[in-house]
Amino acid sequence: MNITAPYSDTLDLIGNTPIVRLAGPSEAAGCDIYGKCEYANPGASVKDRAALAIIRDAEQRGDLKPGGTVVEGTAGNTGIGIALVANALGYKTIIVMPDNQSKEKMDTLRALGAELVLVPPTKFANPGHFVHTSRRLAEETEGAVWANQFDNIANRKAHIEGTAPELWEQLEGRIDGFTCAAGTGGTIAGVGMGLKERDENCMIALTDPHGAALFNYYANGELKAEGSSVAEGIGQGRITANLEGAPIDTQFRISDEEGLEWVARLLREEGLCLGLSSGINVAGAIALGKKLVAEGRTDARVATILCDTGFRYLSSLYSADWLREKGLPVFDWLEGT
Ligand code: PMP
Repeated sequence: MNITAPYSDTLDLIGNTPIVRLAGPSEAAGCDIYGKCEYANPGASVKDRAALAIIRDAEQRGDLKPGGTVVEGTAGNTGIGIALVANALGYKTIIVMPDNQSKEKMDTLRALGAELVLVPPTKFANPGHFVHTSRRLAEETEGAVWANQFDNIANRKAHIEGTAPELWEQLEGRIDGFTCAAGTGGTIAGVGMGLKERDENCMIALTDPHGAALFNYYANGELKAEGSSVAEGIGQGRITANLEGAPIDTQFRISDEEGLEWVARLLREEGLCLGLSSGINVAGAIALGKKLVAEGRTDARVATILCDTGFRYLSSLYSADWLREKGLPVFDWLEGT
């Protein structure tokens, strides 16, 4: 076990997350499945990395000046990361979020001191969409920068320069496959690029939830969404700047039910409390592991991302009433609550 020396700066707590072999998923896949514990970042999600990289990039470009404001549209996790980093560096934060995201994320953002603007969920083409609203607010606010996580490639750079080399080192230079779902696409594109630089045979797979358009795009070139998902933070309908040039070799589509089954099993059998995107990623990693095993790579090592903490979804994913309302199976230990 490596023990790290004290950091002198709280921002150094972002990244260098642990990785763990997941027993149940490894057994299901027939090869080793590893989860990178991004929920262990200070803001409890993978998005702290992008938040820090975007803010540092804006400072370096001279766009963000002392006392300035960072404005962003987000499903919540990027906002939490931005609010923490901005607090540490003396900036203000304005966060625009669709009002159907988890209550815990909204409460967290308010608790961190961010100004929270809630908008109705709409299609990207609608000018009231949270992304466009955040851009307008940034333009109207003196001394503000727009983080623009979807099309600002400082986002994926955080994964090219951080997450990918960490994974490589943690798995001692042998990773046969990597997969995760895309929100902005920063993680899949950045980790994919970083791993391909080290081993071009490492298979990079996109894991797509239902209701997103990327599975069809990578399968047959058509950006077409089918079905729907309650997973927060993932599910993309367009090729963002972060996704441009992403080295995707193959793709899987995973249902909420499959993702939830792994959320439940990881909690009850392995003691990990995670959000639904992590369960969907793990189901995707099992599919990728099975594919590699079927191709004769029985000792394959597959890595994925455990994106955020389940404590962020106590009133949704971990609520029997909410699961029933969404027509999803209720975790058996929550029956009767
Ligand atoms: N899972 C969760 C819970 C998220 O909030 C996000 C970010 N939107 C992702 C996964 C996807 O990460 P990325 O934006 O890097 O594609």
